[in-house]
Amino acid sequence: MPPDSSIPVPFSPRPSACPGLWRIVSALDGGICRVKLPGGQLSSAQARAVAAAARTCASGVLELTNRSNLQLRGVRVERQAELVGGLLAAGLGPRRAEADDVRNLLLSPAAGRDRAAQLDVRPLAGQLLDLLEDTPDFHRLSAKFALQLDGGEALAMLDHPHDLWLAAWPGGTRIAFGLAGGARRQALASVEPAQVPQLVETLLRLFLELAGAHTRMRELLAELPVAEFLDRLQARLPFALERAVPALPLADTAAAPLGVYVQAQPGLTMLLAGAPLGRVDAAQLDALAELAEREGSGELRLTPWQGVLLPDIPVARMAAVADALGEIGLLLDARAPLARLLACSGSSGCVKAHADTKADARRLAARLGEHGPAQVHLSGCPRSCAAAHVAPYTLLAQPGGRYHLYRREQGLAGFGRLLAPSLDIDQAGDWLAALPPSGAPA
Ligand code: SF4
Repeated sequence: MPPDSSIPVPFSPRPSACPGLWRIVSALDGGICRVKLPGGQLSSAQARAVAAAARTCASGVLELTNRSNLQLRGVRVERQAELVGGLLAAGLGPRRAEADDVRNLLLSPAAGRDRAAQLDVRPLAGQLLDLLEDTPDFHRLSAKFALQLDGGEALAMLDHPHDLWLAAWPGGTRIAFGLAGGARRQALASVEPAQVPQLVETLLRLFLELAGAHTRMRELLAELPVAEFLDRLQARLPFALERAVPALPLADTAAAPLGVYVQAQPGLTMLLAGAPLGRVDAAQLDALAELAEREGSGELRLTPWQGVLLPDIPVARMAAVADALGEIGLLLDARAPLARLLACSGSSGCVKAHADTKADARRLAARLGEHGPAQVHLSGCPRSCAAAHVAPYTLLAQPGGRYHLYRREQGLAGFGRLLAPSLDIDQAGDWLAALPPSGAPA
């Protein structure tokens, strides 16, 4: 069933700090409107519609989020209804307005095309999205409550924590699942793929019954032993949960795997590109739409590395398309300085920010050149909006605009170990440039 473009505008969403399609959250640079994309999928026609809306109703700046969605920034108050109407007309809304917040299911951007995948999870993802959208009880879930479905693709972000994650086993005959973590953690149990919709429905209903005032799975499991949650879940299911699950393969997937990849489909490739500091403008999005139509299948996939995957490019055209992406201003080299930096909107957009993280990141990129670690995250405050995972190195802004430098360390909460306090951005650059690319201290 297509999205309902007759949903009345304005619809009044429930209160939340998170932006949504109708919940346009005010920021220093105007309103923020978040568009949730199923599996990160964006057709070229939709990309053009977003670019047009960004131009006429907002500042033209688009943010690609770490959950494969996009945000329009600088939305003008008097243009909000026009903006939402345009996005709905392009099929970019939910089927029911109340379901906008709960469409949180992360897939690999290469789902259905990745040669390493154990299972093409797109049909199952469609079933789960239908379940979330069509079950009114689930519309009570927090706008942050998030699911992940991993088909075993090589191009997957497995470091983001999810309230519920599901991962295909070798051969695709079983789906393992876990709670309140990322798919790099030990799974709790597994089921057959056909049992997944009933598993998820039962699990979410159980969560809502037990959660009380809690909104996230980790909060509930801080009070309720996970074994007890599993026992209660099992008691409601007509099939057995297989609790003996081997450890799933581990991979460090936090850094963006930019580059060109051979697809499962013979003769085709896909190019995974980064958007510098997670942003593109309307002209760049129009150019991407044109490139996808001319060289590929007209489809774009947004990635959890705040970039774009351009699939279905014939092998003979991949070099030309790589050049075109560079001309548009996207990054295909993971060692490029801006490809190794994450930054939140900072003081130009956010009242909570202690520093202009975007501008500082550009200055840092120029200072680092090809030196320094694989990933550094500049965060304007401890909320860490730009990274759902803990980056290998974090520069956390302090009142006055200086930064504390942290290194991620296993067993240490938060951003990790404090390496150096109160650095200005040039001092931070000197510190980071002295580190080897592996990210280990020199
Ligand atoms: S991390 Fe803090 S400063 Fe940066 S955008 Fe989020 S709330 Fe604002």
